[in-house]
Amino acid sequence: MAQGHLMYIAGEHVSAASGATEAVVNPATNERIATVPLGDASDVDRAVAAADEAFDDWAATTPGKRAELLLKLADRLESHAEEFAQLESQNVGKPIAVAREEVPFGVDNMRFFAGAARVLEGRAAGEYSPTHTSIIRRDPLGVVGSVAPWNFPLVMAIWKICPALMTGNTLVLKPSEMTPLSTLRLAELAADLFPPGVFNVVTGHGDTVGAALTSHPRVRMSSLTGDTNTGKVVARAGADNLKRLHLELGGKAPVLVFDDCDAELAITKICEGGYGNSGQDCMAASRVYVADGIYDDFVTELTRAVSKIAMGDPALESTDMGPVISERQRDRVAGFVDRAVSSGPAELAVGGLGTGPGFWYKPSLVVDAAQDSEIVQKEVFGPVVTTTRFSDEAQAFAWANDVEYGLAASVFTRDVGRAMRAARKLQFGTVWINDHLPIVSEMPHGGFKQSGHGNDMSIYSVEEYTEIKHIMINLES
Ligand code: NAD
Repeated sequence: MAQGHLMYIAGEHVSAASGATEAVVNPATNERIATVPLGDASDVDRAVAAADEAFDDWAATTPGKRAELLLKLADRLESHAEEFAQLESQNVGKPIAVAREEVPFGVDNMRFFAGAARVLEGRAAGEYSPTHTSIIRRDPLGVVGSVAPWNFPLVMAIWKICPALMTGNTLVLKPSEMTPLSTLRLAELAADLFPPGVFNVVTGHGDTVGAALTSHPRVRMSSLTGDTNTGKVVARAGADNLKRLHLELGGKAPVLVFDDCDAELAITKICEGGYGNSGQDCMAASRVYVADGIYDDFVTELTRAVSKIAMGDPALESTDMGPVISERQRDRVAGFVDRAVSSGPAELAVGGLGTGPGFWYKPSLVVDAAQDSEIVQKEVFGPVVTTTRFSDEAQAFAWANDVEYGLAASVFTRDVGRAMRAARKLQFGTVWINDHLPIVSEMPHGGFKQSGHGNDMSIYSVEEYTEIKHIMINLES
């Protein structure tokens, strides 16, 4: 195995203790692109022990020193941007042009976190009793165990690594078994920066490495980005030693299209937001609700736009959309659409199963989907958008909220009052007005309801990796 494909434990690039390996494939071709170690619980034990040992010294470094190291890593990532874009494109099936946009975003995230950790503050210091001075500290928790998904492997790794390390915690990170390559390469770039044990990567599956990490007694916090059901498993696994939980889970984002909106803009944003990353985005624009008066014309134009989305070879600049991640995911997506159409009243206006050696599902639009149908209620996590007709604002808001998820939502309207009413009523962690999908390092990304708890990016994320401590000094001692 190439060094860049090995696990990273205690400052060493290592194989699994068992010697087991597994293939990583390109989802566009189903061809092997790498072989990586197949870790198990004993590798997790090694990594947690290393992280535990490194904790005291790392926690004693200054925020300025930690930031200096992370800024160096950001510079290295930036100077290897094309290599990382190619890795993400080949491992996830992302169109290369999209993968090239994600790397600078990850670099910006890193630089934000490096700065943010230096301005963390306790909210108060003073005499709340006449004879005592109180001070608030923010302290690290210890070893953090983080588990990442496959849809944005590099950016997810960055969202896990930075807030944990910048606040003085040490980290064991498990990337998705399907997409470990960019995380392993990042560990290689970081190897001479962080002291051994501060940052560890263990590759392997969720039910072995993930389960061992999120139930490990020395791990003080589990941070998962993944499916809502996985979040529930991780929460149960952490119950025995009451780990802090940071759960970024599934989504089912509504798009509310009112009759006063810029319809062309809404269609452009639905195509980007619904089919970008083959719809494998927790914030994907998956449920489109359109006002009765414009529904028929809007759906006709949206169908036309979706049929023009160029699905194909991710290596080509002209490609808008690549494959889905796996055969299992393709079959899962196909199952959702087949069941929706066969149970009616929904119809498939455009799209369906693709062909090829890789895992292809075409950009698909399911029209006239009923609010209580499975395809409206459940996360499909593929290139499938539904449309549903609504009669008035109250119904649009109610239906938007009528799912178990609450990650992101968008509203298209020129009415400022309506936009503000939507911002208030919609139970989602992010609400866009006349847009769908943009995110920035300074602002939080997190969910309501079963989309989890905790936030990524922003100062809120940094705070969640710390514990508040009250120091009380007797002035008369
Ligand atoms: P997944 O839940 O199948 O896997 C996520 C990670 O959890 C993987 O590394 C997997 O190996 C691990 N895992 C699986 N079972 C585990 C267990 N029992 N214990 C510990 N770890 C386990 O999710 P996925 O298919 O990789 O990613 C897609 C999901 O992630 C979607 O639901 C999507 O909405 C969600 N997601 C959410 C966000 C967000 O910020 N809220 C961002 C990206 C993806």
